[in-house]
Amino acid sequence: MIPVTKTFLPPQEEYQAILSRAWDAGWITNRGVLVKELEEKLKSYLGVPNIIATTNGTLPLQIAIKALKLTGEIITTPFSYVATTSSIVWENCTLVFVDIDPEYLSIDDTKIEAAITSKTTGILATHVFGNPCNVGAIDLIAKKYELKVIYDAAHCFGVTYKGESIFNYGNVSTCSFHATKIFHTGEGGALFTRDEDLLHKLFYHHNFGHRGQEDFYGLGLNAKMSELQAALGLSVLPYYEFLKAERKKIITFYNIHLEEMQRLRLRDETSWNYSYFPVVFPSEIKLVEAKSALNAVGIFPRRYFYPSLNSLPYVEYKEIPIAESVSSRILCLPVYTGLETVNLEKICNILKEI
Ligand SMILES: *Cc1c(COP(=O)(O)O)cnc(C)c1O
Repeated sequence: MIPVTKTFLPPQEEYQAILSRAWDAGWITNRGVLVKELEEKLKSYLGVPNIIATTNGTLPLQIAIKALKLTGEIITTPFSYVATTSSIVWENCTLVFVDIDPEYLSIDDTKIEAAITSKTTGILATHVFGNPCNVGAIDLIAKKYELKVIYDAAHCFGVTYKGESIFNYGNVSTCSFHATKIFHTGEGGALFTRDEDLLHKLFYHHNFGHRGQEDFYGLGLNAKMSELQAALGLSVLPYYEFLKAERKKIITFYNIHLEEMQRLRLRDETSWNYSYFPVVFPSEIKLVEAKSALNAVGIFPRRYFYPSLNSLPYVEYKEIPIAESVSSRILCLPVYTGLETVNLEKICNILKEI
């Protein structure tokens, strides 16, 4: 069976050697040595001034909304993972969906201004498949209307834009280190900001609001990463360049053999991480046909992102034409370390026939 992705597991003895340090310390949570070491390594590896490691990539979105005091309406994209939308709803804000660009697949920045009202306080956009949003244009709009910007950068580990970590854009960026992402800690994630005051808020929000043991700065929840997660991250990190190179080979193969299909258009000046390979079919009927043909031979691509988030059961439905159309026609093909060329050929041949 060939799934859409496979979790990379480092040699178990390497994980255990790192884990034994937590055992020796008798300390497995509350920001022990391994979480701090992972944070330091990621800071220098990614080129970011600050990072807070978290227990997943969803709580950081909620924490960011809270720390930036967003209320009222938040402008967002319907073409993302459900966590982007659910975080806004969970924080009692109102969703305002803006359609996406049909080629870059991120929010269409030229449509944002028309969606701003007196109630708008922020923009929460996703760098879809690790492809940066038009961050320059979004930044100008945010300044003009005094809005805060959060980027869901769950897919963006290692991505740079204009020579700088993509995590350095916006007021806050978040990442996911879930097992299906290119760099992972099993479950995990991170918060990024360049603003020191905001960093302080994000930090205490992620740790129950604590100010020492007996005092509190304010409201918090628990989004701390554990030592067990950090140990996995520390044992995966040395393989990141290898994982990226392997994915690059696979995606280069797809790009050559599936040249006629609509593929992701990367924004100029992006150094990408080869995290996903989506193809967009001319119709949903063609997509379903292709998916069935692949499934019949044990290949399981994923409809991702599908459905468009404006059709979630807890969202008041309003048509968002491009996002709905793309969602219904997009399929992510298998990309993972160890995926063999014979199988890539099989996938490409089946798609070419259709
Ligand atoms: C994976 C993902 C998340 C959620 O991350 P978790 O670590 O699974 O909580 C959020 N947004 C996007 C776009 C994602 O792909």
